[in-house]
Amino acid sequence: MTTKAEETMEMKYSELAELDKKHFFHPTTSFKQQQAQGPKFIFTEGKGIYLKDVRGKTVIDGLSSLWNVNIGHGREELGIAAMKQMKQLAFSSTFATNSHERVIELAEKVAKMAPGDLNMTFFTSGGSEANDTAFKTVRHYWQLKGKTAKKKIITRNKSYHGVSMGASSATGLPAFRAFPSLAPDFLYVDSSIEDLERLIAEEGADTIAAFVSEPVQGSGGVNPPPEDYFKKIRALCDRHDILFIADEVITGFGRTGTTFGMNNYDTVPDIMVIAKGITSGYAPLGGMVISEKLKNELIELSDGVFMHGYTYSGHPMCCAVALENLRIIEDEKLIENVQNMGDEFQKGFKWLADKHDVISDTRGIGLLGAVEIMKDKETKTRFDEPVSVKVIEEALNHGLLGRSIIYEGQDTLAFAPPFCINKEEVETVISIIDKSMTTVLNQLK
Ligand code: PMP
Repeated sequence: MTTKAEETMEMKYSELAELDKKHFFHPTTSFKQQQAQGPKFIFTEGKGIYLKDVRGKTVIDGLSSLWNVNIGHGREELGIAAMKQMKQLAFSSTFATNSHERVIELAEKVAKMAPGDLNMTFFTSGGSEANDTAFKTVRHYWQLKGKTAKKKIITRNKSYHGVSMGASSATGLPAFRAFPSLAPDFLYVDSSIEDLERLIAEEGADTIAAFVSEPVQGSGGVNPPPEDYFKKIRALCDRHDILFIADEVITGFGRTGTTFGMNNYDTVPDIMVIAKGITSGYAPLGGMVISEKLKNELIELSDGVFMHGYTYSGHPMCCAVALENLRIIEDEKLIENVQNMGDEFQKGFKWLADKHDVISDTRGIGLLGAVEIMKDKETKTRFDEPVSVKVIEEALNHGLLGRSIIYEGQDTLAFAPPFCINKEEVETVISIIDKSMTTVLNQLK
């Protein structure tokens, strides 16, 4: 029996869903699915690891939304910081040497947190813009050095770097490149060092500007590299005069249990790309952090203007929100919590793998994890239809939001809960995955 309150919520949902179908062009969504089903959720509020929707359903945000709401939902302090900044100075330009207090404070803060000599930040509104900025910067740098043939950018298969022209070209998941006439001079390589060496030899190091990689691939299936991988990459890049760009959009600011993902691999890139976790999604902000060495060379070599900048490069409100977010991460020792809860979370995944034969692999680091599914792991046979999609659907029935990754023939469940998660909540997440797998596998029998 439905109550009056439920009826009202259902009506509200239906009204909004119709308007959504009529007017809202969704990102990364099937047109047909939107029109046939309407929005799966229309969220109205969030608190901690939980999201609530217009029909009154509460779910655990098991992916921190888009791997970004790291401190968790509903932190009023960030709203207060935003309001304070808007009242004081809502906007001012950062073009042509102009500056403001918050952007300077944030650039200093990022430099203090960043490894090695990474020291100077260009701000954007998100990760794609930040990657495009990095690609333009490395190409510009080699032009200034007189090495005009060094334009190609090498990226790894299964990588994800965003959806702007440059960033989608750099993305090693072909599904995201299914648009004609993207940006030229991007090369794709498998993840092994030998493949990269072979590609450099084939193309000639004098044509290659940079190599770009996520410390741990996220959207490509949560793929941590072998421990010494990036040290070897760093050495290879140095040997061939190739700049190394680390895309820390998911891994930056604590996700893997260290401040940046590259800290796990003792490697300092020439350029670091950041976004998501810098504001925990409370405001759109990204950036490119360059090394002191690169900075000094650019100052020395460049006589003109760096003709690249977004209206919202260093938006005052976004910078104020980022500063407050980073303060909370530090004051509340949230990265320590990522380490502790990350251990529980990864242990939970191993327990799932012991229990369910169809789990062929578990991967992860900190609060970033994935479970790979195969019909027969001995023969490496997949199910005819991806099972992960059904498990994620079933998990939703039990109140857990996660993601299934099925590109490139994968059948993967991915989770990345907010840093504020506690032990009991980790146990709930694991037990919902367990229940959902059991239900789906029984249906398949
Ligand atoms: N790089 C990586 C590693 C990402 O995961 C993402 C977003 N998922 C991006 C870049 C693109 O960032 P944005 O969506 O903010 O443009």
